[in-house]
Amino acid sequence: MKVSAYHSSNKSDPDVYHDHSDCPTGQQIPSYDKVSGTGGFPRCKQCVDKG
Ligand SMILES: [Zn+2]
Repeated sequence: MKVSAYHSSNKSDPDVYHDHSDCPTGQQIPSYDKVSGTGGFPRCKQCVDKG
């Protein structure tokens, strides 16, 4: 489902933000690395495909 924007604070993760809770890439972000907001990154392609 659609959620507010979040991204990873881990530098080794892709520089994108997510806005779907069921995004496979977003789901790999551990909670301690998860930061709300876009981080100034472009939107994750998998999230774009989900709408
Ligand atoms: Zn995503």
